[in-house]
Amino acid sequence: MTQSVVILGGGTAGWMTASYLRAAFADSVDVTVVESRRIGTIGVGEATFSTVRHFFDYLGLSEADWMPECNGTYKLAVRLENWRAPGTYFYHPFERMRVVDGVPLTDWWQKVGEAGHFDRDCFLIPWLCDAKASPRYLDHRLFEQDFDETPDRPLYRTTLAEQNTQFPYAYHFDASLLADFLCRYAVRRGVHRIIDDVVDVRLDEQGWIEGLVTREHGELTADLYVDCSGFRSRLLGDALDEPFVSFKDALPNDRAVALRVPVDTAVQGIRPCTTATAQDAGWIWTIPLYDRVGTGYVYAGDYCEPEEAERVLRDFVGPAAADLEANHIRMRIGRSHRAWVNNCVGIGLAAGFVEPLQSTGIFLIQHAIEQLVRYFPGTNRDPVLRDTYNLSTARAIEGVREFLILHYRGAARADNDYWRDAKKGAVPHDMAVRLEQWQSKLPDNDTTYPYYHAFEPYSYVCMALGLGGIPLRYPPALDLVDTRAARAELTRVREQARKLVDTLPSQVEYLARLR
Ligand code: FAD
Repeated sequence: MTQSVVILGGGTAGWMTASYLRAAFADSVDVTVVESRRIGTIGVGEATFSTVRHFFDYLGLSEADWMPECNGTYKLAVRLENWRAPGTYFYHPFERMRVVDGVPLTDWWQKVGEAGHFDRDCFLIPWLCDAKASPRYLDHRLFEQDFDETPDRPLYRTTLAEQNTQFPYAYHFDASLLADFLCRYAVRRGVHRIIDDVVDVRLDEQGWIEGLVTREHGELTADLYVDCSGFRSRLLGDALDEPFVSFKDALPNDRAVALRVPVDTAVQGIRPCTTATAQDAGWIWTIPLYDRVGTGYVYAGDYCEPEEAERVLRDFVGPAAADLEANHIRMRIGRSHRAWVNNCVGIGLAAGFVEPLQSTGIFLIQHAIEQLVRYFPGTNRDPVLRDTYNLSTARAIEGVREFLILHYRGAARADNDYWRDAKKGAVPHDMAVRLEQWQSKLPDNDTTYPYYHAFEPYSYVCMALGLGGIPLRYPPALDLVDTRAARAELTRVREQARKLVDTLPSQVEYLARLR
């Protein structure tokens, strides 16, 4: 029997959900998206996490299909500037750690590495970022050969559940172009699109949604309603009154101001990473797209006024910012107590958000959609499906929260009230224990947040080493063992990196070829 779903909202969350449900269930689920012409989308959200390739693969889309249409670029890392001290930077690459004699290379680096940069000594990707290189050769081969990209790959589609391969990159894209692209994709495959405002929500006596009342299209009814209405949370928060769990005690940034800056990428090149530059009351993102840069200052309203934040951002961008219109945004940081209530599931900003650092908004959307497919209710309304979904999505966002707290807690920077207070904010109890453990041994599987939230121990290691505010010691056992293999591996990283930088095309060159 055909099931029906109505999705409220046509932003990134709405169209990702619609296209994915269609790809998963085809004609077994009838999908309608209702979106307002009056209420805009958030207009930001242009950097992604390395898991996002599963999403496009699942939809059967190759990079050549969508990247040129969405001004897409590659993102191999996050470059964090000024978090330790002004003038410093380090990378958090999408590259798993090498292991030598059973010990992660970064642990070895603490003992035998030359004073310098753990990221460039232990990983290849920082070199590619500094060189503004493409991760692919002009014949499309990836710089790493661990990936099965041959045309006769098996027919099954991969999801976040298959984590044996860490993709060495994510993407940047223009969020509005991507929503348009996914809308066309979904509508071509039978998703119904209604442009209208939802002006009322009818509930039955048990609090289940009976219908969404629109201004011009009457009432829309479905078996399941997906709330993708953004920070408004029109169904989950508003109509169903589900409590909101704020993260503000630990993560105070609650505002942003954004600019879209045109650049001549042929002249400037395209660095294949997002840059997060620490500021007096937060940090500024720099996201290079094919034809422009997306940038914005994420800050705490308690420490900085919007006018001041806009001035800081314009100074940061320089003359290119002169005539550009700034987009000021209030952020609701935290999560809905339950993301799925009765016959309504919130996805995207409607369900929760943990500020843009490390680009997890779209990851959390992708994760929620995959969980929805896994626990899709069918006709029996089994509460176990709903409860398991709620557990899994809450755990993911709580894990992201913990990883982001580490950035402020672990940053050596403490030069004003904002950065000093960041060290005093709330820390979940288990995380406080982990922070102690990391001082004696860099984070590993046993000492990081235990549930799936995208970040693996090596990401925590990069932060602990790069941010510089946590006192770290190497494990004493490393004084008792032969270090030759580790030293040889550190040399090998440099040799491989040099060779890659010499042979890979620039990102501009590769993307121009893809068009
Ligand atoms: P929105 O884009 O707000 O869309 C809401 C939709 O609901 C719109 O279509 C609107 O018309 C519709 N709507 C609302 N009410 C009604 C109604 N009554 N009737 C009809 N339609 C209605 N994520 C990342 O992964 N990477 C990033 O780099 C990143 N940067 C960010 C920076 C900032 C400052 C912020 C705030 C977020 C960022 N995010 C990022 C998160 C990302 O932007 C969002 O997760 C993503 O855009 C999804 O938004 P959404 O679709 O949930 O909501």
